[in-house]
Amino acid sequence: MEYISTRGQAPVLNFEQATLNGLADDGGLYLPVSWPTLSQGEIHQLQGKPYSELAFSIIRHFTCDCVPDSTLKKLVHDACTGFRHDAVAPIKQLDNQLFLMELFHGPTLAFKDYALQILGQLFQYFLSRRGRTCTIIGATSGDTGSAAIAGLRGLSSVELFMLHPHNRVSDVQRRQMTTVIADNIHNIAVDGTFDDCQNMVKSLFTDLDFKNKHALSAVNSINWARIAAQVVYYFRAAIALGAPEREISFSVPTGNFGNVLAGYVAKKMGLPIRKLIIGSNQNDILTRFFESGSMERRDVQTTLSPSMDIGISSNFERYLFELVDHDSDRLHGLMQEFQEKGRFDVGRDMLNRARKDFSAYRLTDEDTRKDIRKTYEATGEIIDPHSIIGVSAARKEGFKEAPVVVLATAHPAKFPDAIKSALGFEPPLPDELSEILTLEERCRNNLPNDVSTLRKFVESSLASGNSSKK
Ligand SMILES: *Cc1c(COP(=O)(O)O)cnc(C)c1O
Repeated sequence: MEYISTRGQAPVLNFEQATLNGLADDGGLYLPVSWPTLSQGEIHQLQGKPYSELAFSIIRHFTCDCVPDSTLKKLVHDACTGFRHDAVAPIKQLDNQLFLMELFHGPTLAFKDYALQILGQLFQYFLSRRGRTCTIIGATSGDTGSAAIAGLRGLSSVELFMLHPHNRVSDVQRRQMTTVIADNIHNIAVDGTFDDCQNMVKSLFTDLDFKNKHALSAVNSINWARIAAQVVYYFRAAIALGAPEREISFSVPTGNFGNVLAGYVAKKMGLPIRKLIIGSNQNDILTRFFESGSMERRDVQTTLSPSMDIGISSNFERYLFELVDHDSDRLHGLMQEFQEKGRFDVGRDMLNRARKDFSAYRLTDEDTRKDIRKTYEATGEIIDPHSIIGVSAARKEGFKEAPVVVLATAHPAKFPDAIKSALGFEPPLPDELSEILTLEERCRNNLPNDVSTLRKFVESSLASGNSSKK
C-alpha cells in the first residue's frame, strides 16, 4: 500500500515511513493511494471477534507488508491490555434507536488512547528494528498530551517532550501527565497559551538542522496511523448492531475532524454507514461549512468542551482531497487561499456531495448543560460535555430508520466542573483518577515562551539521557 500527500509534492511513502514522518514535507497530509475494501462476507467473519482480533483484521489493511501478521497481532494485543474494560469499547443503549459507545476505558479516560496505545507500539517496533531512536515533540491543551504520554512511556526508542500551557490545563489533565515517572517522558509547562506552545513546536520543526539531528517526529492527530487505529471501533459498533445487513449512523463530537474522518474511511472500506453526524461546540467551523460550503476561520472561544476548542480542523484536508477527486493542484489552491484570506468556498455541487456523507450541528454551552441534565434525568447516565454534543446532534438529525451510535469521547470525571455546573454534583471518580490525585508530580519544568530556551532544554535533556544510558 502506497501513501500519498494531499498536496502532491511530497515523496510517496509506505506505511512505516508515513507513520514515522507524520506531516508530509509539502505541508500536506498522507493518506492511502486507494481505500482497501472488505466484502460483505469478510465483514461477516468479523462478527463476535474480541476487540484486539478485530483491530488486527482492520489495521493490517493499512500496514500491509510493513508489519508481519504475527507481529501486528502481538502489537495490537499488547496495546489492548492497557484498557480497563474487557470489551475495550462497550456499547450502551440510551434510547430506542440511540446507542453510546464508550471510548473512555483507556489509561487516560478519553478516546485518544484507542489510537495512541497502538501508535506507541508501532513506533517502538519500527524504530527498534532499524536500530534507531526519535524525538517526539508536541503541544497539548489537555487530552492529547496525557494520551501520548500513556502510549509512549517507558519505550526505549522514543524520547517525548510535551508542552502544555502553565495553569491553563485542568488539574486532572496536568496530573495525568506529570505523575507519569519514566525516563523518556519530559513534561514542559510553558508560560503562555496553547497557541504559544504550538508555535514553539512548529518553529523547532521548521529548523531543519535541528529536526534532522534529533530525528524529530510527531504523534498529533494528522498522523495517519492514528486514523487507521480509529477505524476499528466503527466496525466494532456497526457489526454489533447488525452490519453488514443493517445500516448504522454515527454521531461524533468533533474538533479537528480526525475521529469522524475515521468513520468516513470505514464507510469507504465497505461498512454500511448511512450518515456521519458531526457535533461542534461554539467553535463551529465545520458546522458552518456544512451549512454554507464556506470554510472560514474565526477566533477560538473557550467552552465547556475544551478538547474541541479549535479554530481550524486540520484533518478536513483529507476529506477535501476526496471532494476535489484527488486533484492536488486544486486542493493546494484552496489551502493557499485559506492561508492568505482565512477562507475558501467549494460551491454548490461539492457541498451537496459532502452533505450526502455528513450532516452537522452545534451546541452552545448553555444547551450543553441543559442536555447533560435532560439525559441524566431520562437515563441515569452522566455524559461528559464533549460526548453530550454527539448525543444532541444525533437527536437533531433524527433516526430515519438507521440506529445512531454516539461516540462517547471522554469519561465525565475528567470534566468535574462542567458536570457540576449542569447537575449540581461532581461525577464519581474512577479508581485510576483518585490515585493520581495523590501521586507525586514530577518534571514540572517551567520554561518561558521562547524557542531558543526550549531548543537548549531539549538538547541538554537528550544529552544527559544519552550519557546515563551508556
Ligand atoms: C480530541 C477530543 C475530541 C475531538 O476529536 P477530533 O479527532 O479532533 O475530532 C473530542 N472529545 C474529546 C474528549 C477529545 O479528547
